Amino acid sequence: MQSSMFNVRVPLEDQNEVFLMNTFTDAQLIVSSDVAELLDRIEAGTNGWNAEEREALATLAENGFIVESRDADRDNLRQYFHEVRQSREQLRTTVLTTLQCNFACDYCIQGDHGDYNKNAAKMSLETAARVAEWTEQRLDALRPESYVLTFFGGEPLLNLPVMYYLAERMWQACQARGVRMLVNIITNGLLLTPEIVDRLNAYGLNGIKITLDGDRDTHNRMRPLRGGQGTFDRIVNNIRQVAHKTRIAIGGNFDMETAGSYPALLDFLKEQEFADKLSKVAFKPVIRERKEAPAPVVAPAARGSKFIALTAVADKPLNGACMTSAGAAVSASSGCDSCHMLDDEMAFLREETKKRGFPTIDGIHMGPCEIHRSNAHTISPDGSLYACPGFAGDTTQSVGHIDGRRESARTQAASRFEALSAWKECRDCAFIPVCAGGCTVAAYNELGSVDRPNCHKTAIQAGLVSLARQTAAERLAAVN
Ligand code: SF4
Ligand code: SF4
Repeated sequence: MQSSMFNVRVPLEDQNEVFLMNTFTDAQLIVSSDVAELLDRIEAGTNGWNAEEREALATLAENGFIVESRDADRDNLRQYFHEVRQSREQLRTTVLTTLQCNFACDYCIQGDHGDYNKNAAKMSLETAARVAEWTEQRLDALRPESYVLTFFGGEPLLNLPVMYYLAERMWQACQARGVRMLVNIITNGLLLTPEIVDRLNAYGLNGIKITLDGDRDTHNRMRPLRGGQGTFDRIVNNIRQVAHKTRIAIGGNFDMETAGSYPALLDFLKEQEFADKLSKVAFKPVIRERKEAPAPVVAPAARGSKFIALTAVADKPLNGACMTSAGAAVSASSGCDSCHMLDDEMAFLREETKKRGFPTIDGIHMGPCEIHRSNAHTISPDGSLYACPGFAGDTTQSVGHIDGRRESARTQAASRFEALSAWKECRDCAFIPVCAGGCTVAAYNELGSVDRPNCHKTAIQAGLVSLARQTAAERLAAVN
């Protein structure tokens, strides 16, 4: 009998109680300090329990706080990651309809800067038909319960014909197979209209994620049009037109300079008539490349490609996913240029968001992201396949192609991503089930390897403390 390595605890203020959580089973309990101390006594090898203690130990064991041995914990973890990777319940594809963008974001040198858009790839209807065919074959092979189609870019709304074509064709394919289909869009929101939402609602539109980078002035400075014109008012007006038709999530990218403007953005959003329609509000640090490129550990050729995924880079990349919105999971805490300070900022903004009553991420329940799932694919405009949106466009990281071509570089990349397990370097960290070693894209960019953890434990710990306090407050409210 041993205390699980996935136990975490937060002493509750002004009470002789402790919030206990097991990150593997997700069990959460508020117990007296005496009960929490039982776990320490087990670790110390104590034997001989009284009846009351035995009852408490049984409850702790039922909830996974006590396990047979450390090896049992490790076996469970390995099995968990295996099941996540092999899961056939859901097929997910993120389709980059184009790498062109109509913004000239301060932190991104893609988009409408110079002649970038002239050279950036855009999916043709012919390729879209092949993407649909490939996806139908995956549906037939997997027979999943649901299919999630996410449109991303570049700016996905710059290629509406491909969006409409894929949504309609895949809707019919799913209907014919009895598969539930959900469509998501990650967009800058400038071209969003009620007509687009109406049209996609007929094909299972689930929600739209839009980026606002701070309050009006900050956003206009960070995300202008090429001529410097602001985009905030038009985006907010577009949200106003569609918020009653679909779920809108607001994202945002902050750095040390802009984080302070987010409370004003939250206040502004709270005043809007669509405030209660927002399905999620969550912000993450801007992902920036280290000035000094790290020594290449994986795919050295990538460093010569002048492309580094999801980063603002010194040399112009001609292909790559938009860096503003990818990484809904762990990458929300990744890639920062002064990570501990930004961890603090992120925890602060999460609390500010909660304070205003918006649904947001709790900073704990992130789970292994889609790079850990074999049945989640990112498809670039030319039909190349990637393990996650953060690597899209970097051909050295492509894991295949929808036409099934066999190329050794892609086969090697596929094996590399299939074997991803940076979390094994995290040893006995209690957060492995909910963190999985952090964002692989950030690890690649910051540390030069997909096999090393990208650790933001401080941010996760802050999320845990916040969850503990919220759970205690809710319990108190329920009692009174
Ligand atoms: S590796 Fe990072 S960017 Fe890729 S899916 Fe995971 S969290 Fe997102
Ligand atoms: S990256 Fe850090 S917080 Fe995440 S599992 Fe590894 S050691 Fe823990």
